[in-house]
Amino acid sequence: MTTYLSLGSNIPDRAANLRRAVEQIAVSVGTVTMQSPIYETQSWGYTDGDYLNQTIAVETTLTPQQLLAATAAIETALGRVRSGNGYEARTIDIDILFYDNEIIDSPHLTVPHPKIALRRFVLQPTADIAPDYLHPTLHKTIKKLLDECPDTGKVRKFVIHNS
Ligand code: AMP
Repeated sequence: MTTYLSLGSNIPDRAANLRRAVEQIAVSVGTVTMQSPIYETQSWGYTDGDYLNQTIAVETTLTPQQLLAATAAIETALGRVRSGNGYEARTIDIDILFYDNEIIDSPHLTVPHPKIALRRFVLQPTADIAPDYLHPTLHKTIKKLLDECPDTGKVRKFVIHNS
């Protein structure tokens, strides 16, 4: 099955958090077949720092519930970085955007992810790797959803500088 996952991080080191998440996904979810460029997204609240966002495509044999358990475990594992008094809440957010063309509406899992069409920071990277993917309930391509997206938040390509 092909699943598309949205990754987001707003806690330093943001690019390293995305990279570690992709590494863990390759270990416990399946083969990572595509990775979008990384985008920097202006955060809505003032207290949060800006996010880095990326969409990846993964070939997996996990069921949707197993996939959710695996991504939640990765979120937890990567969140365990020492901070002042305990552990950071969460350094990475992993959302399941699509799981093949399945439509899932269970208490803990809604697929396609319900906020895809509202979020430019999800649509832009997803359009880079799957512009013609047809949203199974909205019946529009990702490219079209991006064209029609009302989100005015700034999303710009992020360049990782290696020194
Ligand atoms: P949030 O922290 O807002 O990303 O919400 C995480 C919770 O949303 C998880 O514990 C999941 O049970 C639930 N959830 C429902 N649908 C999805 C989805 N498509 N991808 C990831 N989490 C989901």
